[in-house]
Amino acid sequence: MELLNGKSGFIFGVANDHSLAWHIAEACHRNGARLGFNYLPNPKMEMRVRKLAEPIGAKVILPCDVSDDEQIRATLHQAAETMGPLDFVVHSVAYASRESLSAPFYQTTRSDFLQAMEISAYSLVSVCRHALPYLREGGAVLTLTYMGSVKVIPAYNVMGVCKAALEASVRYLATELGREKKVRVNALSAGAVKTLSAAGVSGFSRMLDHYPEKSPLARNIEPEEVGKSGLYLLSDLASGVTGEVHYVDGGYNIVGG
Ligand code: NAD
Repeated sequence: MELLNGKSGFIFGVANDHSLAWHIAEACHRNGARLGFNYLPNPKMEMRVRKLAEPIGAKVILPCDVSDDEQIRATLHQAAETMGPLDFVVHSVAYASRESLSAPFYQTTRSDFLQAMEISAYSLVSVCRHALPYLREGGAVLTLTYMGSVKVIPAYNVMGVCKAALEASVRYLATELGREKKVRVNALSAGAVKTLSAAGVSGFSRMLDHYPEKSPLARNIEPEEVGKSGLYLLSDLASGVTGEVHYVDGGYNIVGG
């Protein structure tokens, strides 16, 4: 069964084949979706994303820095011009300076705080606003989050605060986009997976050690599991699900002590 047969989606946030966005893209592609991608505007990122996206027949591959509303607007406009109305959008983007992910949280500078918030949380609001005219009635938006939004995770710092804002934004956006156009907005809260961004969190490998020790499934999650759950949230299987933060972490978040 191809869950996304005849559907089109645009994916923000592929950097390489370890990216969670790429695992979601692969699951969507295997299920019949036509896809478009952005890349962070620089030649190296363009090369990396093209190498992945072209072989799966990506319709558009566009530069877009999500800290710039005009780039978001132009990207989604061009995507819809080429691909037609969109059925879904994936937002899998986050950034915080290396210093803010290693120094104590209270030492976060104003500019590092605002930059992290702009790229990691506000960008979802802008993506939704600019995607809305091109999203089909009943479409879906998915963002990626982490439990550092609700629990203190060593060194996650400002990113935890950004994820809290992101998850609250999901609830407001789900309410408004649902009433306006039956568009669903959800967040997938992944367990720790080794990616480019994860490498920026100091002590990340210690985070990986916790999951086999503490989680109900006694293991780390596989990135393909993020792909499968992302596919579910984007497909009609989740037609009654919106405003949710859906954990894909082997149950790690339910364990106390
Ligand atoms: P990744 O590095 O592969 O993806 C992050 C993406 O953000 C990259 O493609 C990067 O180019 C993009 N990006 C950063 N700044 C940008 C900007 N200004 N404009 C456009 N794009 C920009 O790492 P990932 O782990 O796949 O991260 C994807 C999402 O998953 C993030 O929101 C991250 O917080 C979340 N997440 C990751 C984990 C994990 O353990 N890896 C766990 C839970 C949630």
